[in-house]
Amino acid sequence: MDTKRGSLEGSTPVQYLKGVGPSRAKVFEQLGVTTVHDLLEHYPRDWIFAPQPSTIVDLRVGELVTVVGIIESTDLMSSRRVPMFEAMVADDTAVLRVVWFHGGYLAKQLRPGQIMVATGKVTEYKHQLQLTSPKFMIVKENCPNPAESLGGGVYPATGKLSSPQIKRVLGPVLDQIDGLVDEYFTDAVRKERELVSRREATLWIHSPPDQRKLASAQRRLKYDELFLMQLGLALRRYKSRHYSGACRLTWTEAIDSHIRRRFPFMLTPDQDAVIETIVRDMGRDEPMNRLLQGDVGSGKTVVALYAALLAVANKKQVAILAPTEILAGQHFDSMERYLEGSQVQRALVTGGLTGKKRAELLSRIGDRSVDIVVGTVALLQEDIVYGDLGLVVIDEQHKFGVEQRASLRGQNAPHCLVMTATPIPRTLAMTAFGDLDCSIIKHLPPGRGKVVTRHVDMEDRPKAFEFIRERLKAGKQAYFVYPRINSQEDGEEVRAATEEWQALSTIVFPEYSVELLHGQMASADKQRIMSEFRSGKIDVLVSTVVVEVGVDVPNATIMVIEGADRFGLAQLHQLRGRIGRGESKSFCFLFAESMSDLVQERLKIMTKSNNGFDIADHDLRLRGPGELFSTRQHGLPDLKIANIVEDYDLLLLARKDAFALVEEDPMLMNAEHRAIRTALLQRFGETLGLVDIG
Ligand code: ADP
Ligand code: MG
Repeated sequence: MDTKRGSLEGSTPVQYLKGVGPSRAKVFEQLGVTTVHDLLEHYPRDWIFAPQPSTIVDLRVGELVTVVGIIESTDLMSSRRVPMFEAMVADDTAVLRVVWFHGGYLAKQLRPGQIMVATGKVTEYKHQLQLTSPKFMIVKENCPNPAESLGGGVYPATGKLSSPQIKRVLGPVLDQIDGLVDEYFTDAVRKERELVSRREATLWIHSPPDQRKLASAQRRLKYDELFLMQLGLALRRYKSRHYSGACRLTWTEAIDSHIRRRFPFMLTPDQDAVIETIVRDMGRDEPMNRLLQGDVGSGKTVVALYAALLAVANKKQVAILAPTEILAGQHFDSMERYLEGSQVQRALVTGGLTGKKRAELLSRIGDRSVDIVVGTVALLQEDIVYGDLGLVVIDEQHKFGVEQRASLRGQNAPHCLVMTATPIPRTLAMTAFGDLDCSIIKHLPPGRGKVVTRHVDMEDRPKAFEFIRERLKAGKQAYFVYPRINSQEDGEEVRAATEEWQALSTIVFPEYSVELLHGQMASADKQRIMSEFRSGKIDVLVSTVVVEVGVDVPNATIMVIEGADRFGLAQLHQLRGRIGRGESKSFCFLFAESMSDLVQERLKIMTKSNNGFDIADHDLRLRGPGELFSTRQHGLPDLKIANIVEDYDLLLLARKDAFALVEEDPMLMNAEHRAIRTALLQRFGETLGLVDIG
């Protein structure tokens, strides 16, 4: 075998490969490659198809060619408008001009006397044939097959390890591929799915014989990656479904009408439908694991409260977790409104609660004298021991990862309802939350005023301010939202809450009460300002995005978002959801300083659509999933080759197949699934928390 020690296996450290010593192994490690297996999964980021070399005298304009020749001279023409690097390359038949625009960096690499192999399309310039910006490399004089050396994969590299060096290490490994790549699927399955073998796919992705084979290799490897990811999610879901450790909650008509009496309105058909599902979920002894999506103001909180009261009616405790203290307070307040005069014992846990008072509350939670506990995720995860927790409601799940979700499950496995107002595009719902059941509230409750959104440029700001003054005169309230607390946080000057608040309160709206709210203020101050805004004492609330979620003041019908170009569309939509909560028409003004095409395009989507799902889809397309939601926040497994947006169809197929496999063989114990099982644990065991299936 070709390693320095013994035979080659997937788990062999790359350090034992030819040409790799301890120091180079470290560099490989920086690229995420420690074993032969990792090396085979270090996929090229691009591919070069270099045909067999032609002699220079035979070149024709328009042909894709490879030439091999000696560099006779080089010249850097740096005074041109576009600096250009030129090399004259000769073989036995003729001389060819080869140029690179912006090629200054080549002056250090290319010298007369070197042998170059280059591939590209032949062009003509002033009646002379030339190659323009070809892909190339310098080879040794006796290089047996220069076209082959140049062609193939181009690898993600580092300054210390170039793509050709990676290729040289990989070459001998590919020669021994037979024992190194396990097949996951039977021939029959592969045929049906039109998948090439993993062995071929691995060979071809690194060194594709042609474009078609490269495409088949990519399809196979993407499918595998998506399949394994979905399989992990399917297993997690199967496990939680078949885990009978939850309490069955009984629903009766008496309980139902008792709960409904608490709401001063009829529930909407969407709310009713979701409640019906939740009641069914919670009536089983496997824990509910449901994601409830709905635009801000669609009435999710009411649904959650219904579920909470059903649990309380069954003598179980409920924890309601919000991402911030403001939101927790808000949930608590609105709950208080619905539960006025009720016997249900509820408590708000805040960071300000310390010492004896806190200890007292914790002991009441421990002995079940408190029915509903509201607080932030941080506070409620800390040191609280519940007497008998039956339901956990998590608001705005996108702020928490998969691990936290898992950590909420104690021994008694409470039911779990996750709510989010961030519309999650389907593809993300299927990956980040792929193990949850999903419900959606599509329609807002009746009696909501329309929200008109306008993109306002610099010149029209005074007009917008006058318009706002008229609305304030009519007794309405306004939000002014800024991307930052202070204008010079990182050297970059932007309009920010603190400075603008001064201007707004003294110059623009001196006759109104204008107050400032931001995340660095003391929690008590925040609460006070929020409650004064809610009661109408404050007319204009100047803030950072702390008002992003959950705030509910129906009389606030105006929102100005400054620096709108700095926010993601989903975030803008969420902010905008703060208005349009009452019956009168609301107005959202987007102020942006940059007017680039992309900004214009994005803000136009906001002025045109009020549908969070549309907006999220657009955003996903314009910015890609990484920008929209950080993978960490979402607990998204990171993918090496597949892309959940571009490969959506393949994702659907892989998902279907993965879920079917888990139905058939839930523990993947079947001998023919062994390779899949191993690969799954290796690839996603950690990110998807699959340790216990191992
Ligand atoms: P979300 O949590 O989805 O943002 P909420 O449950 O807080 O929405 O509801 C938003 C507002 O709509 C609240 O003021 C609530 O009282 C009101 N609301 C909820 N459901 C209904 C309904 N069925 N009919 C009328 N108003 C409703
Ligand atoms: Mg809410």
